[in-house]
Amino acid sequence: MSTSPQMPAQSMGDSWNERMRMIRLRRKKEAFRFRDEFRIVPRWLKVLCVILYLLAVAIGVIVIHVSPESRPSDLRDDVATATVAIVGIITAVGFLVSCFLLMLGYVNRDARRRGMNSALWTLLVLVLSPGSLFIGFIVYFLFREPMPYPCPRCNHLVGPRFNFCPNCKCDLHPSCPNCKREIAETDKFCPYCAQDLLSKGEIGKSLAEEHS
Ligand SMILES: [Zn+2]
Ligand SMILES: [Zn+2]
Repeated sequence: MSTSPQMPAQSMGDSWNERMRMIRLRRKKEAFRFRDEFRIVPRWLKVLCVILYLLAVAIGVIVIHVSPESRPSDLRDDVATATVAIVGIITAVGFLVSCFLLMLGYVNRDARRRGMNSALWTLLVLVLSPGSLFIGFIVYFLFREPMPYPCPRCNHLVGPRFNFCPNCKCDLHPSCPNCKREIAETDKFCPYCAQDLLSKGEIGKSLAEEHS
């Protein structure tokens, strides 16, 4: 990250750069595994989805059996086909509704563990989504905060907006002293301009400071 002197006019650009840096950091540090992510959805919500689905199927089947008027006109005398049709429709609708509810539960829990305002985000996703095809979720996945991650030097958990590790003073966003572009903590040479980072770079300097 560039560390040029701050100017008021730059603040918009700076917050945009910060946002992009957060997105890069999240992609670098977090692997998305569906099973692990699904685990944070509250169990009661999963159970509720199953119960609601079974209840809807039961009601649908009973109604089809009890009142012939509820069947489609061409299936009036064919109870078996009408039952299969209603179960199919309920399953399709139930699947979409369940997806929506489970993702809402996911956003609520995920926002909380990332230290974001979980109530506000859940509400936002709820308000945005039904009319516009899950757009709320897309916005959420784009803008959610990265999770705390272990410091590359001492494994102490550090926040995504930290610049230095509070435990060992490790530079968490080192930049090349020559070309000022972002580099990894483990780079020995700058990948952009081949600057030797161990001998006179900032990493080498901070390591030397630590040992003195
Ligand atoms: Zn550290
Ligand atoms: Zn460089």
